[in-house]
Amino acid sequence: MKVTIPNYDSRNGWIDVEHKLLYVEYREDIPFAAITAFYVPEADKPYWRKVYWDFFPNGGDTNDMRYYENGSGGSLEEGINACKFAKPVEVWISSEIVIKGEFVNAVFLPKPKGDPFKEAQETPSYIYCKKCNEYYDDYMEPEPCEHICLSNDGELVYRDNGEKVND
Ligand SMILES: [Zn+2]
Repeated sequence: MKVTIPNYDSRNGWIDVEHKLLYVEYREDIPFAAITAFYVPEADKPYWRKVYWDFFPNGGDTNDMRYYENGSGGSLEEGINACKFAKPVEVWISSEIVIKGEFVNAVFLPKPKGDPFKEAQETPSYIYCKKCNEYYDDYMEPEPCEHICLSNDGELVYRDNGEKVND
């Protein structure tokens, strides 16, 4: 399956980049993680470069899905590492990709539940509030819930005790 993911760079501005969807992991029926690959023709040896994505419902709102690029690298030919889940997790894996190792507790889906990027928006950063037990896009709104505020040093901290919020 091909998906289109907008990408910004200073030379071209925003352009739509076509990716191969290789892997999608679901938690409670919504995307939680995905792996894609896009073609890099300008490399010495052109290749499909893997990209790792996190997904989360912003503040728990499943109608407001966000995704975050959690790194990229390695070629499609290298395959992907299998995961050992503690509890059953639904995954879809493209027939184009080789799996290294063996999945534990994976429930394999015959096809992905739609294009995970289509209804979602990218964010360059996100945080977890342990008091809400939710993830938030903190890029446009640095104080996304009542528990979190910006300290005088510009760090995200919990409002009641000043403890740093880790991302
Ligand atoms: Zn909160």
